[in-house]
Amino acid sequence: MLTIALSKGRILDDTLPLLARAGIVPLEDPGKSRKLIIPTTRDDVRLLIVRATDVPTYVEQGAADIGVAGKDVLMEYGSQSLYEPLDLKIAKCKLMTAGAVGVPEPVGRLRVATKFVNVAKRYYAEQGRQVEVIKLYGSMELAPLVGLADKIIDVVDTGNTLRANGLEPQELIAHISSRLVVNPASMKTKHAQIRALMDVMEQAVAEDVM
Ligand code: AMP
Repeated sequence: MLTIALSKGRILDDTLPLLARAGIVPLEDPGKSRKLIIPTTRDDVRLLIVRATDVPTYVEQGAADIGVAGKDVLMEYGSQSLYEPLDLKIAKCKLMTAGAVGVPEPVGRLRVATKFVNVAKRYYAEQGRQVEVIKLYGSMELAPLVGLADKIIDVVDTGNTLRANGLEPQELIAHISSRLVVNPASMKTKHAQIRALMDVMEQAVAEDVM
């Protein structure tokens, strides 16, 4: 049995067509079903529906053999052992700093609100900047508006959410897309199965991009 960890939303919507190319179609609509383990048209493949930030954990621990996770999530998770063999080029966005329009940076220590705490610490450490990182779980855009932080770090697509809240995108930290991640032990023990799936997905990505 090959177990694939996916999260609902953008990643699921964009990954299902790639899996379908390999004959893997969920037997229930994962977007609607309350089930967390979903069988597929292939007896040897099942899907796990997990939180986006939990995908690397399931795969690293071997509870899932492979998974699909955003590069933002992988950067924050910071695993040394997960294989990341394929850029699926889906759910693209940018990881950026953002701040209030027209407000200059404070002279002293910068306060940065984000759910990407590790990314933020690494980013500012590389610049030799002293920052206070404030962990939030959502609605980051609010923080600069009410004086909780000077800046935020978040993923940005169109920038509409920032603009609707009087913020502007500022520094680009990384271009983001979703990646296939593979448990290293599974890569050995289920090599043929995983290799075949990777080849089909790689082909589908290449055709989509061209
Ligand atoms: P935007 O189009 O910039 O207004 O983005 C809308 C919201 O969706 C923002 O709050 C982003 O945090 C989020 N978002 C946009 N693109 C992605 C993505 N590829 N993955 C995860 N979250 C995203």
